[in-house]
Amino acid sequence: MTKIKKFKTFVNESTNNKTIKDFPYVMEFFKKFYPDKNISNIPVYIISEEEWPDGKGRQTENDLEGGIRIHEDQIERDSEIGWLIHEVGHVLELRGEQKPYIISKKEFDGYPNEDNEQTPMFYQFHYLIDKGLTEDEVIRLEKNDYSNKKGGGTLWSEYKDNFFRRYYNEIKKKL
Ligand SMILES: [Zn+2]
Repeated sequence: MTKIKKFKTFVNESTNNKTIKDFPYVMEFFKKFYPDKNISNIPVYIISEEEWPDGKGRQTENDLEGGIRIHEDQIERDSEIGWLIHEVGHVLELRGEQKPYIISKKEFDGYPNEDNEQTPMFYQFHYLIDKGLTEDEVIRLEKNDYSNKKGGGTLWSEYKDNFFRRYYNEIKKKL
């Protein structure tokens, strides 16, 4: 199979589409805490390793038109870490919805300390905290994902470790 370069092409040709309704842990979380968000029709495309574009290190992608794309390896254990919830946050952000919370920006070093990551990360961390995960458990999950991204090498760093710990504690206090 020829590797595709852009998701849009794939999404248009895909028959393997679902919507966020097909993921009960996502629906239950938003229903419980953010019932006003109209999310159930956001498309979700599960992309196989063969179809995942060359050079894409990330395991999920999103845009307003095409919805969410997630790698097949990621979906199997997604209820553990909540990347679909993160991506729903991106779609809400793209729709221009107000940010639920603004994290204090003490320093800048690129991703994940970016304006358009605040809403997605807030929802994702709220989900993880609501599941009862401790700070160390969240860090272990994040570290595992960022260390295993295909094509991106080792993307974990001390900076991310510190950032996610600060984020966890700020959000926990806010909830
Ligand atoms: Zn993101």
